[in-house]
Amino acid sequence: MDTKRDSSFERMLAADSKMRIFNDTVPAGILVIGQEDGRVVFSNRYFNEAFGVDAVALLGESWESFFVDKDERQELMVEFSVRDQVRDFELRLRGKDDTVLWGLASLAPIMVDDEELLLFAFSDVTKLKHIEGKLRELNEIKNRFLGMAAHDLRNPIGAIRSMSNMILKLDLDDERKGKLLQTISRTSDQMLALLNDLLDVSVIESSEFSLKQRTGSLGALLKERVALVSLSAEKKGIRLFCDIDGDTDIELDPGRVAQAIDNLLTNAVKYSAPDSIVETSARRGGSSVDIRVRDYGQGIAADEIGRIFMPFERLSSTPTAGEKSTGLGLAITKKIVEAHGGTVGVESTPGEGSTFTLSFPL
Ligand code: ADP
Repeated sequence: MDTKRDSSFERMLAADSKMRIFNDTVPAGILVIGQEDGRVVFSNRYFNEAFGVDAVALLGESWESFFVDKDERQELMVEFSVRDQVRDFELRLRGKDDTVLWGLASLAPIMVDDEELLLFAFSDVTKLKHIEGKLRELNEIKNRFLGMAAHDLRNPIGAIRSMSNMILKLDLDDERKGKLLQTISRTSDQMLALLNDLLDVSVIESSEFSLKQRTGSLGALLKERVALVSLSAEKKGIRLFCDIDGDTDIELDPGRVAQAIDNLLTNAVKYSAPDSIVETSARRGGSSVDIRVRDYGQGIAADEIGRIFMPFERLSSTPTAGEKSTGLGLAITKKIVEAHGGTVGVESTPGEGSTFTLSFPL
Protein backbone atom coordinates (compact mmCIF):
# COMPACT_ATOMS: atom_id res chain seq x y z
CA MET A 1 0.00 0.00 0.00
CA ASP A 2 1.37 3.41 -0.93
CA THR A 3 0.84 5.27 2.34
CA LYS A 4 2.65 8.41 1.19
CA ARG A 5 0.19 8.90 -1.61
CA ASP A 6 -2.97 8.28 0.39
CA SER A 7 -1.80 10.39 3.27
CA SER A 8 -1.12 13.33 0.97
CA PHE A 9 -4.66 13.15 -0.37
CA GLU A 10 -6.05 12.65 3.12
CA ARG A 11 -4.06 15.69 4.20
CA MET A 12 -5.60 17.73 1.44
CA LEU A 13 -9.10 16.74 2.55
CA ALA A 14 -8.32 17.33 6.20
CA ALA A 15 -7.01 20.78 5.40
CA ASP A 16 -10.27 21.72 3.79
CA SER A 17 -13.21 20.88 6.03
CA LYS A 18 -15.73 21.98 3.38
CA MET A 19 -14.30 19.45 0.98
CA ARG A 20 -14.51 16.77 3.66
CA ILE A 21 -18.25 17.48 4.15
CA PHE A 22 -18.72 17.45 0.40
CA ASN A 23 -17.04 14.07 0.11
CA ASP A 24 -19.14 12.60 2.87
CA THR A 25 -22.47 13.84 1.60
CA VAL A 26 -22.34 13.97 -2.20
CA PRO A 27 -24.82 11.39 -3.58
CA ALA A 28 -22.33 9.83 -6.00
CA GLY A 29 -19.51 7.34 -5.60
CA ILE A 30 -16.09 8.96 -5.75
CA LEU A 31 -12.77 7.19 -6.08
CA VAL A 32 -9.39 8.79 -6.34
CA ILE A 33 -6.81 6.52 -7.95
CA GLY A 34 -3.23 6.73 -9.11
CA GLN A 35 -3.06 7.75 -12.76
CA GLU A 36 -0.35 5.20 -13.51
CA ASP A 37 -1.27 2.17 -11.45
CA GLY A 38 -5.02 2.57 -10.83
CA ARG A 39 -4.58 1.96 -7.08
CA VAL A 40 -7.15 3.49 -4.76
CA VAL A 41 -6.05 6.54 -2.81
CA PHE A 42 -9.43 7.60 -1.55
CA SER A 43 -13.08 6.47 -1.64
CA ASN A 44 -15.96 8.57 -0.36
CA ARG A 45 -18.71 7.41 1.95
CA TYR A 46 -21.28 6.90 -0.83
CA PHE A 47 -18.88 4.68 -2.76
CA ASN A 48 -18.02 2.58 0.29
CA GLU A 49 -21.69 2.04 1.13
CA ALA A 50 -22.85 1.32 -2.42
CA PHE A 51 -20.05 -1.17 -3.00
CA GLY A 52 -19.99 -2.60 0.50
CA VAL A 53 -16.28 -1.90 0.98
CA ASP A 54 -14.19 -0.67 3.86
CA ALA A 55 -12.42 2.61 3.10
CA VAL A 56 -9.19 1.61 4.83
CA ALA A 57 -9.06 -1.89 3.37
CA LEU A 58 -9.59 -0.42 -0.07
CA LEU A 59 -6.55 1.87 0.05
CA GLY A 60 -3.84 0.69 -2.31
CA GLU A 61 -6.11 -1.89 -3.96
CA SER A 62 -6.61 -1.83 -7.73
CA TRP A 63 -9.89 -0.31 -8.90
CA GLU A 64 -10.08 -2.91 -11.72
CA SER A 65 -12.08 -5.39 -9.64
CA PHE A 66 -15.05 -2.98 -9.62
CA PHE A 67 -15.55 -3.24 -13.38
CA VAL A 68 -17.98 -5.90 -14.59
CA ASP A 69 -16.40 -5.75 -18.03
CA LYS A 70 -12.67 -5.08 -18.34
CA ASP A 71 -13.24 -3.75 -21.89
CA GLU A 72 -15.39 -0.95 -20.48
CA ARG A 73 -12.48 0.14 -18.25
CA GLN A 74 -10.21 -0.03 -21.28
CA GLU A 75 -12.60 2.14 -23.34
CA LEU A 76 -12.87 4.61 -20.47
CA MET A 77 -9.08 4.96 -20.31
CA VAL A 78 -8.78 5.30 -24.10
CA GLU A 79 -11.37 8.08 -24.07
CA PHE A 80 -9.51 9.71 -21.17
CA SER A 81 -6.22 9.59 -23.04
CA VAL A 82 -7.82 11.39 -26.00
CA ARG A 83 -9.46 14.28 -24.09
CA ASP A 84 -7.75 14.24 -20.74
CA GLN A 85 -11.18 13.93 -19.14
CA VAL A 86 -14.38 11.89 -19.57
CA ARG A 87 -17.97 12.77 -18.82
CA ASP A 88 -21.17 10.69 -18.67
CA PHE A 89 -19.50 7.46 -19.64
CA GLU A 90 -21.99 4.59 -19.27
CA LEU A 91 -20.55 1.51 -17.58
CA ARG A 92 -21.38 -1.30 -15.17
CA LEU A 93 -19.68 -1.80 -11.85
CA ARG A 94 -19.76 -4.69 -9.45
CA GLY A 95 -21.70 -3.52 -6.39
CA LYS A 96 -22.43 -4.99 -3.00
CA ASP A 97 -23.08 -8.78 -2.99
CA ASP A 98 -22.01 -9.03 -6.65
CA THR A 99 -24.95 -6.95 -7.88
CA VAL A 100 -24.45 -5.08 -11.13
CA LEU A 101 -24.77 -1.32 -10.85
CA TRP A 102 -25.37 0.71 -13.98
CA GLY A 103 -23.79 4.08 -13.79
CA LEU A 104 -22.73 7.25 -15.48
CA ALA A 105 -19.09 7.89 -14.71
CA SER A 106 -16.74 10.80 -15.20
CA LEU A 107 -12.99 10.84 -14.95
CA ALA A 108 -10.78 13.88 -14.43
CA PRO A 109 -7.08 14.37 -13.63
CA ILE A 110 -6.12 16.01 -10.36
CA MET A 111 -2.73 16.95 -8.93
CA VAL A 112 -2.01 16.54 -5.24
CA ASP A 113 1.49 17.25 -3.96
CA ASP A 114 2.90 16.78 -7.48
CA GLU A 115 1.15 13.44 -7.70
CA GLU A 116 -0.93 12.77 -10.79
CA LEU A 117 -4.18 11.26 -9.65
CA LEU A 118 -7.54 10.56 -11.26
CA LEU A 119 -10.90 11.50 -9.79
CA PHE A 120 -13.53 8.97 -10.78
CA ALA A 121 -17.17 9.87 -10.03
CA PHE A 122 -19.96 7.39 -10.46
CA SER A 123 -23.70 8.03 -10.27
CA ASP A 124 -25.90 5.00 -9.95
CA VAL A 125 -28.60 4.83 -12.64
CA THR A 126 -29.51 1.16 -12.13
CA LYS A 127 -33.13 1.98 -11.25
CA LEU A 128 -33.44 4.25 -14.30
CA LYS A 129 -31.95 1.49 -16.45
CA HIS A 130 -34.59 -0.96 -15.23
CA ILE A 131 -37.34 1.60 -15.87
CA GLU A 132 -35.90 2.25 -19.33
CA GLY A 133 -35.99 -1.49 -20.12
CA LYS A 134 -39.57 -1.75 -18.86
CA LEU A 135 -40.64 1.29 -20.89
CA ARG A 136 -39.02 -0.12 -24.01
CA GLU A 137 -40.89 -3.37 -23.51
CA LEU A 138 -44.20 -1.55 -22.93
CA ASN A 139 -43.61 0.62 -25.97
CA GLU A 140 -43.12 -2.48 -28.10
CA ILE A 141 -46.36 -3.98 -26.79
CA LYS A 142 -48.17 -0.70 -27.48
CA ASN A 143 -46.80 -0.56 -31.05
CA ARG A 144 -47.79 -4.15 -31.69
CA PHE A 145 -51.21 -3.39 -30.28
CA LEU A 146 -51.64 -0.28 -32.45
CA GLY A 147 -50.50 -2.19 -35.52
CA MET A 148 -53.05 -4.93 -34.91
CA ALA A 149 -55.85 -2.46 -34.21
CA ALA A 150 -55.06 -0.48 -37.37
CA HIS A 151 -54.94 -3.69 -39.38
CA ASP A 152 -58.29 -4.83 -37.97
CA LEU A 153 -59.91 -1.50 -38.79
CA ARG A 154 -58.45 -1.16 -42.28
CA ASN A 155 -60.31 -4.11 -43.78
CA PRO A 156 -63.84 -3.07 -42.72
CA ILE A 157 -63.19 0.57 -43.66
CA GLY A 158 -62.00 -0.60 -47.08
CA ALA A 159 -65.16 -2.69 -47.44
CA ILE A 160 -67.46 0.18 -46.42
CA ARG A 161 -65.65 2.50 -48.83
CA SER A 162 -66.00 0.24 -51.83
CA MET A 163 -69.62 -0.63 -51.06
CA SER A 164 -70.63 3.02 -50.66
CA ASN A 165 -68.81 3.83 -53.91
CA MET A 166 -70.81 1.13 -55.64
CA ILE A 167 -74.06 2.64 -54.36
CA LEU A 168 -73.00 6.12 -55.47
CA LYS A 169 -71.54 5.26 -58.88
CA LEU A 170 -73.45 2.27 -60.15
CA ASP A 171 -77.06 2.23 -61.19
CA LEU A 172 -78.14 -0.52 -58.78
CA ASP A 173 -81.67 -1.72 -58.17
CA ASP A 174 -83.22 -1.20 -54.73
CA GLU A 175 -82.76 -4.80 -53.67
CA ARG A 176 -79.01 -4.78 -54.39
CA LYS A 177 -78.65 -1.37 -52.71
CA GLY A 178 -80.55 -2.66 -49.67
CA LYS A 179 -78.18 -5.64 -49.36
CA LEU A 180 -75.09 -3.44 -49.61
CA LEU A 181 -76.50 -1.05 -46.99
CA GLN A 182 -77.16 -3.99 -44.68
CA THR A 183 -73.54 -5.13 -45.06
CA ILE A 184 -72.33 -1.57 -44.44
CA SER A 185 -74.44 -1.40 -41.28
CA ARG A 186 -73.20 -4.79 -40.03
CA THR A 187 -69.58 -3.92 -40.81
CA SER A 188 -69.80 -0.60 -38.99
CA ASP A 189 -71.35 -2.41 -35.98
CA GLN A 190 -68.29 -4.66 -35.93
CA MET A 191 -65.96 -1.69 -36.12
CA LEU A 192 -67.80 -0.01 -33.28
CA ALA A 193 -67.52 -3.21 -31.21
CA LEU A 194 -63.77 -3.32 -31.87
CA LEU A 195 -63.36 0.36 -30.96
CA ASN A 196 -65.35 -0.14 -27.74
CA ASP A 197 -63.19 -3.13 -26.81
CA LEU A 198 -60.05 -1.11 -27.60
CA LEU A 199 -61.22 1.77 -25.44
CA ASP A 200 -61.97 -0.70 -22.66
CA VAL A 201 -58.50 -2.21 -22.90
CA SER A 202 -56.90 1.24 -22.75
CA VAL A 203 -59.00 2.26 -19.72
CA ILE A 204 -58.21 -1.01 -17.94
CA GLU A 205 -54.50 -0.73 -18.73
CA SER A 206 -54.31 2.91 -17.63
CA SER A 207 -53.43 4.04 -14.14
CA GLU A 208 -56.88 5.61 -13.87
CA PHE A 209 -58.61 2.22 -13.87
CA SER A 210 -60.25 1.71 -10.52
CA LEU A 211 -62.99 -0.62 -9.43
CA LYS A 212 -66.20 0.65 -7.86
CA GLN A 213 -66.49 -2.20 -5.42
CA ARG A 214 -69.32 -3.09 -3.07
CA THR A 215 -70.58 -6.26 -1.49
CA GLY A 216 -72.71 -8.18 -3.95
CA SER A 217 -73.82 -11.68 -4.88
CA LEU A 218 -71.88 -13.24 -7.78
CA GLY A 219 -74.63 -15.84 -8.10
CA ALA A 220 -77.35 -13.21 -8.54
CA LEU A 221 -75.19 -11.37 -11.08
CA LEU A 222 -74.57 -14.58 -13.05
CA LYS A 223 -78.30 -15.35 -13.05
CA GLU A 224 -79.09 -11.85 -14.37
CA ARG A 225 -76.47 -12.08 -17.16
CA VAL A 226 -77.58 -15.60 -18.16
CA ALA A 227 -81.16 -14.32 -18.51
CA LEU A 228 -79.99 -11.46 -20.74
CA VAL A 229 -77.68 -13.51 -22.98
CA SER A 230 -80.38 -16.22 -23.27
CA LEU A 231 -82.46 -13.77 -25.29
CA SER A 232 -79.88 -13.55 -28.07
CA ALA A 233 -78.85 -17.23 -27.72
CA GLU A 234 -82.43 -18.21 -28.53
CA LYS A 235 -81.82 -17.17 -32.12
CA LYS A 236 -79.29 -20.03 -32.38
CA GLY A 237 -81.56 -22.37 -30.44
CA ILE A 238 -78.96 -22.47 -27.63
CA ARG A 239 -80.25 -22.85 -24.06
CA LEU A 240 -78.33 -21.59 -21.03
CA PHE A 241 -78.59 -23.15 -17.56
CA CYS A 242 -77.56 -21.64 -14.27
CA ASP A 243 -76.72 -23.38 -10.99
CA ILE A 244 -75.97 -21.35 -7.86
CA ASP A 245 -74.60 -23.00 -4.75
CA GLY A 246 -73.94 -21.44 -1.35
CA ASP A 247 -73.40 -17.85 -0.28
CA THR A 248 -71.68 -16.15 -3.21
CA ASP A 249 -71.30 -12.65 -1.72
CA ILE A 250 -67.95 -10.99 -2.43
CA GLU A 251 -66.56 -7.48 -2.86
CA LEU A 252 -67.04 -6.71 -6.53
CA ASP A 253 -67.55 -4.04 -9.14
CA PRO A 254 -70.88 -5.28 -10.56
CA GLY A 255 -70.54 -3.46 -13.90
CA ARG A 256 -67.06 -4.84 -14.63
CA VAL A 257 -67.79 -8.36 -13.38
CA ALA A 258 -70.96 -8.39 -15.52
CA GLN A 259 -68.77 -7.49 -18.50
CA ALA A 260 -66.39 -10.39 -17.70
CA ILE A 261 -69.28 -12.87 -17.34
CA ASP A 262 -70.94 -11.59 -20.55
CA ASN A 263 -67.71 -12.24 -22.47
CA LEU A 264 -67.70 -15.89 -21.35
CA LEU A 265 -71.41 -16.36 -22.02
CA THR A 266 -71.38 -14.76 -25.47
CA ASN A 267 -68.25 -16.78 -26.40
CA ALA A 268 -69.92 -20.02 -25.27
CA VAL A 269 -72.86 -19.20 -27.55
CA LYS A 270 -70.66 -17.86 -30.34
CA TYR A 271 -68.37 -20.90 -30.59
CA SER A 272 -71.11 -23.54 -30.17
CA ALA A 273 -73.21 -25.14 -32.86
CA PRO A 274 -76.91 -24.19 -33.00
CA ASP A 275 -79.30 -26.12 -30.73
CA SER A 276 -76.68 -26.94 -28.07
CA ILE A 277 -76.60 -26.02 -24.40
CA VAL A 278 -74.38 -23.93 -22.11
CA GLU A 279 -74.13 -24.74 -18.40
CA THR A 280 -73.08 -22.12 -15.88
CA SER A 281 -72.54 -22.21 -12.14
CA ALA A 282 -71.50 -20.01 -9.22
CA ARG A 283 -70.06 -21.96 -6.28
CA ARG A 284 -68.48 -21.05 -3.01
CA GLY A 285 -65.24 -22.93 -2.32
CA GLY A 286 -62.84 -22.77 0.64
CA SER A 287 -61.21 -19.50 -0.28
CA SER A 288 -62.99 -18.33 -3.42
CA VAL A 289 -66.26 -18.06 -5.26
CA ASP A 290 -65.95 -19.64 -8.71
CA ILE A 291 -67.97 -18.96 -11.80
CA ARG A 292 -67.90 -21.70 -14.44
CA VAL A 293 -69.18 -21.54 -17.99
CA ARG A 294 -69.25 -24.85 -19.83
CA ASP A 295 -70.10 -25.21 -23.50
CA TYR A 296 -70.31 -28.21 -25.80
CA GLY A 297 -68.91 -26.37 -28.81
CA GLN A 298 -65.78 -26.63 -30.94
CA GLY A 299 -63.32 -26.57 -28.08
CA ILE A 300 -59.81 -25.16 -28.33
CA ALA A 301 -56.70 -26.82 -29.77
CA ALA A 302 -54.14 -27.77 -27.09
CA ASP A 303 -51.32 -25.83 -28.80
CA GLU A 304 -53.41 -22.65 -28.90
CA ILE A 305 -54.93 -22.60 -25.44
CA GLY A 306 -51.92 -20.83 -23.87
CA ARG A 307 -52.61 -17.72 -25.99
CA ILE A 308 -56.33 -17.47 -25.36
CA PHE A 309 -56.25 -14.65 -22.76
CA MET A 310 -53.79 -12.51 -24.75
CA PRO A 311 -55.05 -9.41 -26.60
CA PHE A 312 -55.87 -9.81 -30.30
CA GLU A 313 -55.50 -13.59 -30.21
CA ARG A 314 -58.10 -15.22 -32.40
CA LEU A 315 -57.67 -18.95 -32.52
CA SER A 316 -58.76 -21.54 -35.03
CA SER A 317 -62.20 -21.86 -33.41
CA THR A 318 -64.46 -19.42 -35.25
CA PRO A 319 -67.97 -18.05 -34.62
CA THR A 320 -70.63 -20.44 -35.93
CA ALA A 321 -73.16 -17.83 -37.04
CA GLY A 322 -71.09 -14.91 -38.35
CA GLU A 323 -70.84 -13.19 -34.94
CA LYS A 324 -68.20 -10.50 -34.36
CA SER A 325 -64.75 -11.49 -33.12
CA THR A 326 -62.14 -8.99 -31.95
CA GLY A 327 -59.82 -11.24 -29.94
CA LEU A 328 -60.06 -8.78 -27.05
CA GLY A 329 -62.95 -10.14 -24.94
CA LEU A 330 -60.97 -12.68 -22.91
CA ALA A 331 -58.02 -10.29 -22.44
CA ILE A 332 -60.48 -7.79 -20.93
CA THR A 333 -62.09 -10.53 -18.82
CA LYS A 334 -58.71 -11.55 -17.41
CA LYS A 335 -57.79 -7.97 -16.51
CA ILE A 336 -61.12 -7.40 -14.75
CA VAL A 337 -60.85 -10.61 -12.71
CA GLU A 338 -57.20 -9.91 -11.81
CA ALA A 339 -58.15 -6.38 -10.71
CA HIS A 340 -60.44 -8.15 -8.19
CA GLY A 341 -57.48 -10.25 -7.01
CA GLY A 342 -58.90 -13.30 -8.81
CA THR A 343 -57.72 -15.70 -11.50
CA VAL A 344 -59.03 -17.07 -14.78
CA GLY A 345 -58.73 -20.60 -16.14
CA VAL A 346 -59.79 -22.74 -19.07
CA GLU A 347 -60.01 -26.43 -19.85
CA SER A 348 -61.01 -27.69 -23.24
CA THR A 349 -61.20 -30.73 -25.46
CA PRO A 350 -61.40 -30.07 -29.20
CA GLY A 351 -64.72 -31.26 -30.57
CA GLU A 352 -66.21 -31.65 -27.09
CA GLY A 353 -66.31 -28.16 -25.64
CA SER A 354 -64.69 -25.83 -23.13
CA THR A 355 -65.03 -24.82 -19.49
CA PHE A 356 -63.96 -21.33 -18.43
CA THR A 357 -63.54 -20.52 -14.73
CA LEU A 358 -63.37 -17.16 -13.00
CA SER A 359 -62.22 -17.43 -9.36
CA PHE A 360 -62.81 -14.47 -7.03
CA PRO A 361 -61.13 -14.50 -3.63
CA LEU A 362 -63.39 -14.37 -0.59
P1 ADP B 1 -63.29 -12.88 -29.70
O1 ADP B 1 -64.30 -13.89 -29.28
O2 ADP B 1 -63.86 -11.51 -29.84
O3 ADP B 1 -62.50 -13.29 -30.90
P2 ADP B 1 -61.97 -13.52 -27.22
O4 ADP B 1 -60.81 -12.85 -26.58
O5 ADP B 1 -63.23 -13.57 -26.45
O6 ADP B 1 -62.18 -12.74 -28.58
O7 ADP B 1 -61.55 -14.96 -27.64
C1 ADP B 1 -60.31 -15.19 -28.27
C2 ADP B 1 -60.36 -16.44 -29.15
O8 ADP B 1 -60.48 -17.61 -28.34
C3 ADP B 1 -61.56 -16.48 -30.07
O9 ADP B 1 -61.30 -15.80 -31.27
C4 ADP B 1 -61.75 -17.97 -30.28
O10 ADP B 1 -60.92 -18.45 -31.29
C5 ADP B 1 -61.29 -18.57 -28.94
N1 ADP B 1 -62.45 -18.84 -28.01
C6 ADP B 1 -62.93 -18.04 -27.04
N2 ADP B 1 -63.93 -18.62 -26.37
C7 ADP B 1 -64.09 -19.85 -26.91
C8 ADP B 1 -64.98 -20.95 -26.66
N3 ADP B 1 -65.90 -20.90 -25.69
N4 ADP B 1 -64.85 -22.05 -27.43
C9 ADP B 1 -63.92 -22.12 -28.41
N5 ADP B 1 -63.05 -21.14 -28.70
C10 ADP B 1 -63.13 -19.99 -27.97
